[in-house]
Amino acid sequence: MHGSMSTENEFDPEGYLLQESRKILGDDIPFVFTQDIHGVTTAKMLKHADGVAVYHTYPHVDFADTGARAARQLMRMLNDGAKPITVRVPIPALVRGDQLITETGLFGNQVAYLKSLQDDPRILNAGFQIGNPFTDVPELCSQVLVVTDNDEAFGREVALRAANEFWGNRFEMHADLVPLDESVAQASKMTGPVMFTDAADAPSSGASGDSNAIVAEMIRQNYPHSVLAPIVDASAVVRAVEKGIGGKITVKLGGNLDRRFIPVEVRATVVSVADGTFPLEKWPSIEHAGPTVVLQSDNITFIVFSRAVNLVDRAPFYANRLDPKDFHSIIVKSPFCEPEFFDDWCEINFNVDAPGSTSADLPSLGHTVCARPMFPLDEDVEFDPEPEVYSRS
Ligand SMILES: [Zn+2]
Repeated sequence: MHGSMSTENEFDPEGYLLQESRKILGDDIPFVFTQDIHGVTTAKMLKHADGVAVYHTYPHVDFADTGARAARQLMRMLNDGAKPITVRVPIPALVRGDQLITETGLFGNQVAYLKSLQDDPRILNAGFQIGNPFTDVPELCSQVLVVTDNDEAFGREVALRAANEFWGNRFEMHADLVPLDESVAQASKMTGPVMFTDAADAPSSGASGDSNAIVAEMIRQNYPHSVLAPIVDASAVVRAVEKGIGGKITVKLGGNLDRRFIPVEVRATVVSVADGTFPLEKWPSIEHAGPTVVLQSDNITFIVFSRAVNLVDRAPFYANRLDPKDFHSIIVKSPFCEPEFFDDWCEINFNVDAPGSTSADLPSLGHTVCARPMFPLDEDVEFDPEPEVYSRS
């Protein structure tokens, strides 16, 4: 499970799944669940399961290892009679940005500490979650999760240590964003190539992918360079497919799904049409964007998808015979990409403060459900750690 699923009538659908699983399995069959670092583990999940294993990496590369840690805990319980006691410490803080990258950022220290404990026989599982600020649910928070073998005191000690360190780093960990108009104005004068990171509209974080905010600003400023711009707009694709390759159309792009974006009208030539199915280069998964077209409108090359898909690497461009290196400016709708994809050969990567449902400007998101006060949604938030303890025995 990821841990950040939400529905219209159930804030904690994954907790509900575990509760129902427990009803089916009964009290005696142990189970351990796994979570993403961006998940929101809830009291209900912990109450019905015997433990939790959380990814130790962001960007996430330890999928299999996390499954193995969950399995190892189960084996300890089944073979050695281990008695799991889980301690969690919720932290009233939400942070986004490069400092969360576990290899290089400050957050990596807390994760490395918890990871090192996996070798201690008193620990069955230990992990850290930074929550998903875009899922506005009652238990949204950052949190430490430590599953011990019957050692509540040790669980409390290590969970508090990691939580306090994270709290101390919260200001430094929070992302610095460049104002949209400033980034476009600066890039206008640069030799390039220039990368614009539009994390506010990252489908991999849950956004609609139909933001036109950066291109709208470029059009407003008469941007002089070639631009590669991905966008989701099913109705524009239908119009382009009807017209066929080489045809000229006038279409409105963006703002179909997320109404905060005002559709931008462009006159464009249909360059190519594809079925939108392609393998990612980052993960072993196949994306299904639905019918996809490339539209050329003056200096802007739009790649228009019917559906939001993961735009975390160069695969969506390559699949449509577009090489990012042929452009001065590339808009990338992902909070982070492996450096070799873009950063290594770009002059600069602007982490743009564009509007959007997955913006790192968290106060702009308008939370109404999560517990308050919460950093950075509120000022002068205090942290008074209150460890919670879960045990099924
Ligand atoms: Zn994640």
